[in-house]
Amino acid sequence: MEYSEYQDKAAEYMRLAIPLMRKYGIAMTPANYAVWYEYVAGKNGALIDAVDQQLESEHQLSDSDSRKLYERFFDREKDQAALVEMRQDIRRILTEVLTFLASGAVASEKSNHRLQEVIAKFHPDMSRTEMHSIVDEVLSEAKLVASSSEILTERLSSVSSEMRELKKDLDEAKREAKTDTLTKLANRKAFDDMLLKLTRESDKSGVEVCLIFSDLDMFKTINDTHGHLVGDQVLKVVANTLKDAVKGRDLVARYGGEEFAIILLNTSLQNAKKLAENIRIDVASTRVQRKDTQQSLGKITLSLGVAHYFPSEGVESFLQRADRALYMSKRKGRNAVTEAQPPVI
Ligand code: GH3
Ligand code: MG
Ligand code: MG
Repeated sequence: MEYSEYQDKAAEYMRLAIPLMRKYGIAMTPANYAVWYEYVAGKNGALIDAVDQQLESEHQLSDSDSRKLYERFFDREKDQAALVEMRQDIRRILTEVLTFLASGAVASEKSNHRLQEVIAKFHPDMSRTEMHSIVDEVLSEAKLVASSSEILTERLSSVSSEMRELKKDLDEAKREAKTDTLTKLANRKAFDDMLLKLTRESDKSGVEVCLIFSDLDMFKTINDTHGHLVGDQVLKVVANTLKDAVKGRDLVARYGGEEFAIILLNTSLQNAKKLAENIRIDVASTRVQRKDTQQSLGKITLSLGVAHYFPSEGVESFLQRADRALYMSKRKGRNAVTEAQPPVI
């Protein structure tokens, strides 16, 4: 959506949400506003059903009902990614308030100044509590502003540009939340999300999905002999080798410490095995030297397991089969590729 179109929608949703909140006596908190915004935006079917059901049976929706809905649909501070999403929601709400004020062209100099001060407190790493208190302040200021009739000054447009900066920062934070800091590969969270998405797609459409699991051989020896920093350097070299080996649409992730996983879309088992074998050879023929002493670290090798998804087997079974295949490669003496057994049905 174009930014200007988004602004129009945001202002429209706000105009719709606030009277509804007044009608049901809902307190103007950021959490409650998020629920009603989402409701009038009309895209979140589950949330709309929940609100409609409540209204049908009780003919009202109390402040505490709104809070429960918020907890159910928004309050997912279980991991970093959820927190980042949360910040985005808050950012969106702030943007909307400001956009609304700008389009309404009514605000006093004093309110603008207050809004500026509040926005200045916003930073990408803030906790949820801090975000809530900021949005609280903005919303209460917004109510004052909405009831004032003075002309909005240029200050708000400068706030808008600060908000755009903030959006950039938050987008960056979101990207970082899915990236492994050492290797710059996708992290475990990004991998889990993608695997779930693609296996579900495969359940429906039968699209081919393959998984390559790999684990560095005798990596502990490298750490023990050369230290952790050199070990880290090896992880980066191997990560780059894996990245270079696959096409853009495939996902290479750092699954754990010295374990890497690759998801291949539209790829047959035969081709996935070929790719795994190429990767095995690439890694084994890469010569890694210590940066400080130029001393060679000897041969670095990977053990790999390859599995092809059977529609409806589920993620757990898929992962387990790839992991067992990897384990078989270790059993065979390492530096090997093994095809997974079919699932037990
Ligand atoms: P195997 O061939 O059986 O996999 O042997 P291994 O030595 O690789 O296996 P093991 O699981 O015993 O050791 C894995 C090592 O990986 C131990 C741990 O210190 C190291 N490791 C895990 N994460 C990191 C990391 O981020 N940096 C470094 N330098 N080492 C790591
Ligand atoms: Mg391991
Ligand atoms: Mg290992």
